[in-house]
Amino acid sequence: MQIVQYPHPALRFKSVPIQEISLELRDIVRQMFELMYAAEGIGLAANQVALPYRLFILNLTGNKEEADQEHVFINPEIVKRKGTQEAEEGCLSFPKLYGKVRRAEEIVVEAFDLDGQGFELTVDDLASRAIQHETDHLDGRLFIDRLSEADQREVQPKVKDFETLFRRQQELGVIGTDQQLEAELRRLANAQGAPA
Ligand code: ZN
Repeated sequence: MQIVQYPHPALRFKSVPIQEISLELRDIVRQMFELMYAAEGIGLAANQVALPYRLFILNLTGNKEEADQEHVFINPEIVKRKGTQEAEEGCLSFPKLYGKVRRAEEIVVEAFDLDGQGFELTVDDLASRAIQHETDHLDGRLFIDRLSEADQREVQPKVKDFETLFRRQQELGVIGTDQQLEAELRRLANAQGAPA
């Protein structure tokens, strides 16, 4: 498992709901936390490790030692949004690219944890921003989509660099073709949708 970078097709894939919290899923979550800490992030969506599942993880401290701050969101839904906030965001799938994104200030999110327990959270500020960012991932939406037009123009050269690098790795065979990657995403999504 590794964190994929833009424009990997997984980042534009709409994730499918998780049907069963299996041992395999627990293992995926553990590996995702490892990758997130290694990359010094505070959140990671399953799309970002090329898995088309509605799941993301969060530890706003970004500190592995603070395991009590780890949160797993399975099949999350943002059910309320209030107010607006604007702040700079980054994304582990766009290393070193940052931009200001306007988001709801306060949200209510519903999800399931790794024990299959449903929970509801009302959050604002950074937690709210991170949850909106990660939920966007599950819908195949990226923070660069939400930059102002001026900021989109400004980051365009960097976005192009990501594309060039990715296409070169595909040419070299380090990464599969879009067709291969998409076929694998569909296979995983269908397998998740199948009854256990
Ligand atoms: Zn992200």
